[in-house]
This record gives sequence, structure tokens and C-alpha cells, in this order.
Amino acid sequence: TDIPVTVIGLGLMGRALAGAFLKAGHPTTVWNRTTSKADHLVAEGARPAPTAGDALKAGSLTIICLTDYEAVREVLDACELDGTTLINLTSGSSAQAREAARWAERRGARYLDGAIMAVPPAIGTAEAVILHSGPRPDFAAHEPTLGALGTVTYLGEDPGLASLYDVAGLAMMWSVLNAWLQGTALLGTAGVDAAAYAPFAQQIATVVAGWLPGYAEQIDRGSFPAEVSALETDAGAMAHLIEESEAADVNTELPKLIKAMAERSIAAGHGAEQYPVLIDEFRNPRGA
Ligand code: NDP
Repeated sequence: TDIPVTVIGLGLMGRALAGAFLKAGHPTTVWNRTTSKADHLVAEGARPAPTAGDALKAGSLTIICLTDYEAVREVLDACELDGTTLINLTSGSSAQAREAARWAERRGARYLDGAIMAVPPAIGTAEAVILHSGPRPDFAAHEPTLGALGTVTYLGEDPGLASLYDVAGLAMMWSVLNAWLQGTALLGTAGVDAAAYAPFAQQIATVVAGWLPGYAEQIDRGSFPAEVSALETDAGAMAHLIEESEAADVNTELPKLIKAMAERSIAAGHGAEQYPVLIDEFRNPRGA
């Protein structure tokens, strides 16, 4: 906990990150373009650096959390990076992360990219999941320090992985939420309120989540025997979902999308195989 750290960027998230380091006892240097945002942290013991360059020199690792990668470049362009360790927790694409890694490494920095899957109040608790990717030795060297921020995960050497896992997680989140909203709207037409349906929806989501490891094995093997149900059987039930939604005057966009994908896969000869054979529709988007 006596390892000095630097936090560059004191927006909502940066302030939470710096606060968690302080709470864990790390000597914490901070810098922000708008200096007043450091005031509260300084009152709690953080050291304000006059410039970003000075801030970089103060810590054995520097966390950067700004609006976007352009801002990161703007701030770091003027700084000496040789010998620094940068951990960029700014949200962005995998391509931006890879480019930033190359750029920082050319300038002599060690660089890890990261993605924060949490809101600021969760930072410093186990609930805050923070993903990292980049050189493994650099992550290993700083893992204990980063642990002050939350549940810290290492994904691999490719610096783009943290961003990709981040959006994959969002795809999961939105898909589950939209499916739940579809059901909530449908049941609402029969007088069932959202709270009554929620526990049932939760149970279904848990059961389906349990299928993922087995289905993932089928995808990795590239073989999809219908052990439980064939795609053709699922397609029949998809038609029911559309009919019920139409009859209840509930939005049919999502049910139609689900069925259209299955139909393309059936037309390509996969009707007798199991659901995850649809991976092809995602890998080789023919329809959209
Ligand atoms: P804020 O808008 O609160 O803070 C943005 C920060 O970026 C400020 O420190 C701002 O400085 C700085 N900044 C922007 N442009 C520049 C620039 N050109 N030069 C110097 N500094 C600049 O955003 P958050 O703190 O909420 O988010 C920061 C990052 O964290 C984003 O990438 C966001 O996606 C990510 N994130 C945020 C989450 C959240 O719940 N808040 C959740 C997960 C990720 P100044 O104060 O001077 O304007």
C-alpha cells in the first residue's frame, strides 16, 4: 500500500479511482485539466501535480481515465513517457486500444489497456469489475496495486481484448434486458405487472446461462448435434412469439429478427442441428 500511484483525469470515474487508491493507503498524485476537480481529493491527502508530465513522474504506475482516446493523446503528447507505466482505463474501441499501445510503446512506455464495467460508486469494492489486457508481466507486476480499485481481471496480451470483452458484456446485457422487456410487455397485456413476471424471467435467464459452457464446446468443436432440441423445433416456437406479439399489439421487431436468423440458418441446411449453429449468422452476416 506504500506504492505511489498517479491518476490522470478526475471526472466522475477518475475521482472514484483516485479515492479508492487513497483509501487503500497509496500515496496518490493527481492531475486534471480543470484543476478544481482535484480539491476534494487533495483535502483527503492526494498530491496535486502542476502538469500531466509531473504527475507521470510521481507514480510507479499511472492510471488514465479521460473522456476518449483523443483526449488521452492530447494530454500525453506533450509528456515524456519513457520509463513510465500507463494503464489506460478510458473507454474506446479495440482498434484504438491497439493503436494507443503501439504509440505508447514506441515512446518507451509500458502500456496496459483496460475497461471499467462499473459505475463510480462501486469503485473500490469487489462489485467493480475492471478488465485489463496487454503485456502479462506488466499486469502481474501491478496486479496487487490495481486490486484497490475492484475485481481486477487479466484477459491476455492483445491490448484490444479489454474493449472487446467490454462490448461483448454489453451485448449480453442489452439482449437479456430486451428479451425481458418483450415478455414484460406481452404479459402486461394480460394484466400481469412487471414485478410479478420478474422472478420468472430471472429463473429462465439463470437456466439459459447454465447452457453456455456446453454450447460453447459445440462452437469450439464446430459440431452441433441436436442433443436437446433442433433449430427447426425452436423456429416453430419463434413463430408463436411473433403471433402472440402481433395479437397483443406488442413490438415484433425483436421476435422477427430472432426468427429471420434461424430461418436463414435452416435454409442453409442447419435445421436439424442445435441452436448454437447460429454462430455462423454472427460470424458471416449474410442477411443484414
Ligand atoms: P467525465 O465526463 O466525468 O470526465 C471526463 C474527464 O476527461 C475529465 O477529467 C475531463 O477533464 C477529461 N478530459 C476530456 N477531454 C479532455 C482533454 N481534451 N484534455 C484533458 N482532459 C480532458 O467522464 P467519466 O469520468 O464518467 O468517464 C471517464 C471515462 O471512464 C470515459 O471513457 C467513460 O466511458 C469511462 N467509464 C465511465 C463510467 C461511469 O459510470 N462514469 C463507467 C465505465 C467507464 P475536465 O474536468 O477538465 O473537463
